[in-house]
Amino acid sequence: MTIRIVVWGENVHERRNPAVADIYPEGMHAQIARLLVSDSDLSVTTATLQEPENGLSAPRLAQTDVLVWWGHVAHEEVEDGTVERIAVRVWEGMGLIVLHSGHFSKIFKRLMGTPCSLQWREAGERERIWVVNRGHPIAEGLPPHFVLENEEMYGEPFAVPEPLETIFISWFQGGEVFRSGVTYRRGGGNIFYFRPGHETYPTYHDPIVGQVLRNAARWAHSSTPPLKDVLEGPNVPIEKALEPISDRGPKVHAPGERGYR
Ligand code: ZN
Repeated sequence: MTIRIVVWGENVHERRNPAVADIYPEGMHAQIARLLVSDSDLSVTTATLQEPENGLSAPRLAQTDVLVWWGHVAHEEVEDGTVERIAVRVWEGMGLIVLHSGHFSKIFKRLMGTPCSLQWREAGERERIWVVNRGHPIAEGLPPHFVLENEEMYGEPFAVPEPLETIFISWFQGGEVFRSGVTYRRGGGNIFYFRPGHETYPTYHDPIVGQVLRNAARWAHSSTPPLKDVLEGPNVPIEKALEPISDRGPKVHAPGERGYR
């Protein structure tokens, strides 16, 4: 089994901010990809905002099983067409892993349908991440809890829909808590949001974070073929009804009409 992963990176902070460039000299996307390739079942490539079609053309997305997303300062620069192509692929069955500040990305808000807002503080404080769903595939091989010594604080309330599953809850040194690992399903697609990953800290060099991302990539992958008709809304004429029916009552639609959308 080979799972085709694309790690998408905004690729802006690491080119503007020396502190970020020191930690991620080849870009955050390159380091996130490095964490994934240690699983030989994962075939990993990267894409960035600056490429044509934001690196995510329709043919490329068609060859992608799981998309990993890191963005922050340039959410608004992602083309709306890119966002719609990703959304359709998720509904068809592509997995999506949204990292850290990606909570405010266009694609995450599009798929959640809520503001996705939260409280935050950039103080390099300790984050303790508790595994609260030990039997979940994303938690496989993890300790009961683990620490990132320096992280940005994200605090509740996190304005997302009630998750399908909650895998991690974070405690921060300043006292706040946060649902740090949550799953959703949209159409055929599995979605995982994972909180850690502020750009000025070495979070994506942490081996446990690497294990979480590899587990999540495997979990998000759908082994069934893509759903190819997710945007269709076909009219079923009377003569094609599964059981015989007769035509009754007034109508707004003409026979064979496409319908309103
Ligand atoms: Zn951040």
